[in-house]
Amino acid sequence: MLDSPADPFAPHTLLTPGPTPLHPRAQQALTRSMRGHMDPEVFAVNAAIQQDLRELYGAGEGTFTALLAGTGSLGMEAGFANLVEPGDEVLVCVNGAFGARMAEMAARYGARVRRVTAPLGQPIDPAQVAANLGGVTLVAMVHGETSTGVLNPLPAVAEVVRGSGALLSVDAVTTAGMEPFSMEAWGIDYVYTGSQKCLSAPPGVAPVAISERALERQATRRTPTPLWYCDFEGLRDYWDRQSYHHTVPVNLHFAFHAALRAALEEGLPQRQARVREMDRAIAAALAPLGFSHYVQDPAARLPTVLALRLPEGFDDAGVRAALREREISVTGGLGATAGLIWRLGLMGEAARPGPYRTLMLALEELLG
Ligand code: PLP
Repeated sequence: MLDSPADPFAPHTLLTPGPTPLHPRAQQALTRSMRGHMDPEVFAVNAAIQQDLRELYGAGEGTFTALLAGTGSLGMEAGFANLVEPGDEVLVCVNGAFGARMAEMAARYGARVRRVTAPLGQPIDPAQVAANLGGVTLVAMVHGETSTGVLNPLPAVAEVVRGSGALLSVDAVTTAGMEPFSMEAWGIDYVYTGSQKCLSAPPGVAPVAISERALERQATRRTPTPLWYCDFEGLRDYWDRQSYHHTVPVNLHFAFHAALRAALEEGLPQRQARVREMDRAIAAALAPLGFSHYVQDPAARLPTVLALRLPEGFDDAGVRAALREREISVTGGLGATAGLIWRLGLMGEAARPGPYRTLMLALEELLG
């Protein structure tokens, strides 16, 4: 445990796989004075967010977009709560902790869960998804598996799901805003991310996009959506019809929109190039210290979360604690990969040379 810091406003180098350093425009927007959640200014910001989210996700005009008042996990849960009814056959792709979380949630909403798995560090095989689609009403997959640094082959999986009659729900928590993503071209029905990931906004809102097909599925449920707070129809009351549903976190909407605007103004292709360039540079810089890629297949490496195998005999906990003393946060493995890998965050504002220069200098000093 650290004692409370001498200066809570001291700069900190945050290189975790989320949250990420705040974009300066998001930080500034947090200082705006409060407005009511039914204020016309807030509704104007909400409408701008909805339009910008369509661009972020490559979604068509008929796609409903909104922010949920919670983190990425609420985005995940809202999808299952609205799109699953007891007894539905749901296929979940599981190759890490977040795929496993999806399977757990689907089961809690009464799904009969069918799993397509891959070993840790390896991507899902679209052929296995194709072979297991019979009778399935919903397919769920994580695009970027944060726990292992694997990028799943979403366009290929979406292609096999398209035309099967099943809806496709995608976790884009570590990808939306820094990886190519096209809801419309790929035929995705439900997608969510977390504000604190690739967009460098504060944690607390989950941007979602819901296709017309998914809205229709929810509207024709046999039973009401069991999660009242995120019922798609209730969300539309507030976001589309400007009538009260619950009190949204207005200040997080301001900050989120500032960060999203900044991302779109930078340009999505430019951001995709920036993260790939940084990813290559850092892996190359750490190689002489004995770090190597955990994910063997270069095509399956998630650029936003660089998973590196630690050098032989490396004191994982000791080095990370020494870095934390120097105001640098780095994350290790999760579950089976604890003590085996580091997961370096390259989302949003973390994917800049400055913070990684700070890390390299500290590591040179510590490992000498
Ligand atoms: N899905 C993925 C791929 C994640 O990386 C995370 C968090 O790291 C989540 C879901 C859950 O998001 P949150 O922690 O914001 O609830």
